[in-house]
Amino acid sequence: MNQLPNSIEARDIAFQLHSYTDARKHEDNGPLVIEKGDGIYVEDNNGKRYIEGMAGLWSVAVGFGEKRLVEAATRQMEKLPYYHTFSHRTHGPSVELAEKLISMAPVPMSKAYFTNSGSEANDTAIKLIWYRSNALGQPERKKIISRVRGYHGVTIASASLTGLPNNHRSFDLPIANILHTSSPHYHSMKKDGEIETDFAKRCAQDLEDMIRAEGPETIAAFFAEPVMGAGGVVIPPQGYWEAVQPILKKYDILFVADEVICGFGRTGNMFGTQTYNLEPDMMTLSKGISSSYLPMSALLVNEKVYGPMADESHKIGVWGHGYTASGHPVAAAVALENLKIIEERDLVGHVRDISPAFLRRLHSLGGHPLARESRGVGLIGAVEFAHEALSATPGALGGKINMAFQEQGLISRNMGDAMAFCPPLIITEKQVNEMFDIAESGIETIA
Ligand code: PLP
Repeated sequence: MNQLPNSIEARDIAFQLHSYTDARKHEDNGPLVIEKGDGIYVEDNNGKRYIEGMAGLWSVAVGFGEKRLVEAATRQMEKLPYYHTFSHRTHGPSVELAEKLISMAPVPMSKAYFTNSGSEANDTAIKLIWYRSNALGQPERKKIISRVRGYHGVTIASASLTGLPNNHRSFDLPIANILHTSSPHYHSMKKDGEIETDFAKRCAQDLEDMIRAEGPETIAAFFAEPVMGAGGVVIPPQGYWEAVQPILKKYDILFVADEVICGFGRTGNMFGTQTYNLEPDMMTLSKGISSSYLPMSALLVNEKVYGPMADESHKIGVWGHGYTASGHPVAAAVALENLKIIEERDLVGHVRDISPAFLRRLHSLGGHPLARESRGVGLIGAVEFAHEALSATPGALGGKINMAFQEQGLISRNMGDAMAFCPPLIITEKQVNEMFDIAESGIETIA
């Protein structure tokens, strides 16, 4: 690390607090300073290049350095840098983006509501669900079920939905009315000899048992990612969604698909909802919507949600919710241009073309003696390493591999001992091979 007192590293340690970082370790080790990016690559302040194997945080779909997004932002900045969408006010970019998202939605959706992060989109979804229950005269229908290992954000309500210990421990979370049903991770949760389809049925039965134990009339909604991302890239076991969805319908429970990672091509269709034949009532979108060039997220709701909500806001005068930057015109203009690029370049078709090569190399890495399992779909995957091979502490091996990959020029992300791969959607087959070649040589420095 650069130790000079005026270096960016020293000033980072002095002044900045980081997410998902051991603060004391950071004081000793300092940051990795990324200075620029181009395509699937980023470069640090020493001129070292890395493949961004995580597309930032699962998000830079069109890659770094996309000039069209810069130009779209500049045009909108010059015309109208800011306006809001409160109290009957609106502007062109937010209307256009709402119309675009409703037209892209794979199931009938009625309205788009804009927020600025995945957490805010999920938080807003919870508030809207509670508001709707009150509007329907069902004030007892407030409980929401999400899943162990699900990730839905970090605001107080969305962190409560998240089913990971680090997001609850020491924060006094989850809040009341948020329940977690079983994780659908077959390899870690299956019983001895249990086949995948039986495991999927058992997960669905756990959900139904929870609904019945709590009282179906108290359950308002079920939140789930089509494929779990930050919880370790958990691909739904065979038969899972086919078993879960009828239960939600049976008890008239709203289904919220958190498409924050899966949306906009990641799983080989525009939405994870299509990959797994889902029929959500609400969808939350972020990340790929603008390739994270600017913060943007959206909540799509169907008529079943919008109708009672609109009647209620008419009764009391307003829907008392909103963010200063909801539907920000510059972020909306960038998102529109980003979606245009995804469609014009047929990045969804590209993901389908490139996915077999990606999965072949992912599973081949998963065959390494230090690995336990590999899993993936489209252009998202993970290899689970066996921490017992090196240390008794879960996560220690993942941390080590993370650093080894970084040394070799690959940015990945370890979730415990699972290494995730989620590159920009524009990655070529040659670059997929380059990425896994680096990963393989990184592992060899450990083994
Ligand atoms: N939902 C999912 C599936 C996510 O992966 C994330 C972030 O990684 C979020 C919600 C939260 O989004 P944000 O970090 O923008 O608040």
